This record gives sequence, C-alpha cells and structure tokens, in this order.
Amino acid sequence: MKDQSLLARLPKVDQLLAAPALVLAGDELPRSLVLRAARQAVDHLRQRLLAGEAVPAAELSLEAAAGQAAALARHLAAPSLRRVINATGVVVHTNLGRSLLAEAALARLLELNRTYTNLEYDLAAGVRGSRYTHVNDILCELTGAEASLVVNNNAAAVLLCLQTLAAGREVIVSRGQLVEIGGSFRIPDVMARSGAVLKEVGATNKTHLHDYEGAVSSRTALLLKVHTSNFAVVGFHQEVPLAELRQLGDRYHLPVMEDLGSGTLLDFTRFGLPKEPTVPEVLAEGADLVTFSGDKLLGGPQAGIILGRAEYVERCRKNPTNRALRVDKLTLAALEATLELYREPEKAIAQIPTLAMISAGYESLRKRAGRLAARLKALGLPRLRVATTDGVSRVGGGALPLAAPRTRLLEVAVEGLSTSKLEAALRAGQTPIICRLEDQRLLMDVRTLIGDDAAVVIKALAGLAG
Ligand SMILES: *Cc1c(COP(=O)(O)O)cnc(C)c1O
Repeated sequence: MKDQSLLARLPKVDQLLAAPALVLAGDELPRSLVLRAARQAVDHLRQRLLAGEAVPAAELSLEAAAGQAAALARHLAAPSLRRVINATGVVVHTNLGRSLLAEAALARLLELNRTYTNLEYDLAAGVRGSRYTHVNDILCELTGAEASLVVNNNAAAVLLCLQTLAAGREVIVSRGQLVEIGGSFRIPDVMARSGAVLKEVGATNKTHLHDYEGAVSSRTALLLKVHTSNFAVVGFHQEVPLAELRQLGDRYHLPVMEDLGSGTLLDFTRFGLPKEPTVPEVLAEGADLVTFSGDKLLGGPQAGIILGRAEYVERCRKNPTNRALRVDKLTLAALEATLELYREPEKAIAQIPTLAMISAGYESLRKRAGRLAARLKALGLPRLRVATTDGVSRVGGGALPLAAPRTRLLEVAVEGLSTSKLEAALRAGQTPIICRLEDQRLLMDVRTLIGDDAAVVIKALAGLAG
C-alpha cells in the first residue's frame, strides 16, 4: 500500500528535531545521536506504513514520534557495558565479568591511571626499566617461585609457554586433560596455535606414569598437566600426580608444566570446600612452570600469571609473541594491590570480593536472605510473593566444579507474570538483575549480592508488582 497520502502523514525529520522532546534530549545528548534517532524513528514509521500496517494516527503525531526518537536517542547514548546485579549465586561468573576487584585494587587503579608512573622506568638508575618487575617480587614472595611473568590472560600464558618451550616439538598430555574451557579455549587448539605437537597419552578416565614414559622420545619438549577445571570424573579414574611427572621429567631432562586454570593462593578446604592444589603447593611439588588466571579464584583483574624456574620464565619473557600478549598498566596496578592483601590471608578473605563471597557462611546468608525477604514483604504489595529456601551456590569460572556451598535463596513470584516473563523483566530493567531459573521458579541467591544491590532488587520488584 504505497499510498502517497499515507506517507505524507509522516512527520518530517526537521519537524521532529524542533519538537520539545527532542530539543530536551539535544540538551543532554550529542547532536549526532539525536539526529540519528530522529531519522530512525521516521524510517521505522515509514516502513510500517509501506508494509501496509494500520499505524494508529496517534503514533504518527509529531509528539509521539518525537517521544519515540528521544527514547531511541537515550538508548543509543547509553553505554553498552554496564552494571548488572548478579543474583545467580555463581561467584566467578565469566559472563558477568568474573571477579570484582577489592577496594584497595580499585583505589590503586584509579590513582595510577591519572598520573604518569614508573611502568617501564628504573627509578634508581634513571634508565628504561621493565613492566614485569613490579609484581615479580610479591608473586615470588607469596608462592616460592623463582620468577614470574604476567600476560593478558591465562589462555595467553598457556600459549606463550607452549610456544616458547615446545614449538615444533612434542608435548605429552593425558587424554583425560584435553579440556575445553568456556569461550572456546581448547587445549588441543591452543597447542596447535603454539606450533607444539600434541602427544596424547592414556585413556579418558585413566592415565598411568608408564603411558607418559612410553611416549617420551627425542622429539619430546615438555610434560604438561592441565587442570580439568570445569568438570570432574568420578568412579574408575586416575591421573598421574605432578610429583611423579617431576621424577619422570628429571629422568629424561624434560620440563614439567601445569596449567592450573583457576590457581589459588589459599587452601579452600578452610571454607569447607573440596581440596584444590594451591599455587605454592604445585611449585613445591616441582612444576617448572605454572600458569593461572588473575580473575578466577585469585580475585584480581584479568591476567595470566606464569610462575616457575627463572630460566624458563625468562625465555617466555623474551619470546617476541609476549609483546602481543602483554599486560597493561591498569592490570598491573590492580594486580599488585590485590596480591598485597594476600600477605595477610584474613585480610585477603575479608577484602577480596571473590573470597569473601565464597567463604560466606550459611548462617550469615540465611540472615541476609531473611532481611531482604522481610523488606520485600514490608512493601505490602499483594501481587508480590516472596519465600526463602535452602539451596547451593557455585564457585564458577570453571573452578571447583563439585563445590556446592550451602546458601539461602529468595524465591520470588509476581501474580499475573509468568516466571519467564518476570525473569526477562528483571533482566530488562535499568540495572539488569540476572536471576536463576530452576523448575519454573525464579530464585535469587544472596551470596553474590553486594553493596546496594538489595535496594535495586526491591525497587525493581516494587515496580513490577506495584
Ligand atoms: C580458565 C582456564 C583457562 C583460560 O584462562 P583465561 O584467563 O580465561 O584465559 C585455561 N586453562 C584452564 C585449565 C582454565 O581453567
């Protein structure tokens, strides 16, 4: 229906720009965005008319179209990356940004990024220095490593180590450890990219020391152990302990590397969670190189940390690929401040959000859930139904897949809204709230709520149920 008279009813872009709603928007938003929004709003109406839709006259009015355009302009101007509320109870939630930084790390980050720094300047000698020295001493102090190198993330750390030590030669890995981590990190693929040749040994569920030994040849460059991170094998299962790989490495003069994935400096059994080997333990057992993430269990910024024997770390540092994987100063500032907290483990647990959340006890969570439920009930909204129930949280980030720390959940329903509609509405809010859906129930885990999250949740639910 390309009726010219219909199209003639469309408001003109110039008219829209002069309408009060868009003049107002123009006061706060860049002109280019307001113009783009006005054009899009008119275009959208035109397309609906051309498609034969019976667009109500009210929507074609200058006022209505200007209102639409103003909303669109605000939407275009809003940042894409923004705050969300993590009500899932998954602490190291990779999709929601993994670890939150400790206040001390945030302060350092701000302080050192509005001034010049000695990032690559040796203050004592007055000559060029190295960015890698800043966190080296503290990493070695905390872990017993001889040397360290920090790169962009753990995937980069693994790639750099493999390429440096084993390009064109073979790396022996157990078939039970050829893992895929979220975001398409797969050990065989990373291996291929590094130029090293994967030599897989053993079976999916069982690998013995003699499997490794049988694969050693003049082409072998490295014995690699990979933390299986996000899955667990139960039942008839066996992997070779690092200490035995170390002995094998000594017999054949081969370096031994472990990709720890999460890598923790603290023993998590103190929180009642399953045993995870700590970074100092793995180094003490004889790993020549250990790699792990900065933003998983460590609770710092995204980074890949390489620790181990000076000779190997130095070779990684000098590999030209390192320049492409290099860590930036924001990361170094936040990482150093995070690591400082580990000098007093109690301080680390209290002040590093990831550790504080993982270690939160059931009793405190039960009280928090109870308080939030009470505040919601106090709204006195008949359509809002709130109950608390026991459940489990997850550590996330591929760490401790079997850990299920006990928690207290809020179960929320709004009369007249299906669970999935309620979930979508909370996700679509000004501050999106990401919840858990389980058996047609909408659940919020207080473990991962921080700061004024509870107030935002209350406001959002009041709006939806009011
Ligand atoms: C998470 C993980 C990686 C990837 O680490 P990023 O910091 O996300 O790059 C590599 N290996 C293992 C075993 C992991 O768990």
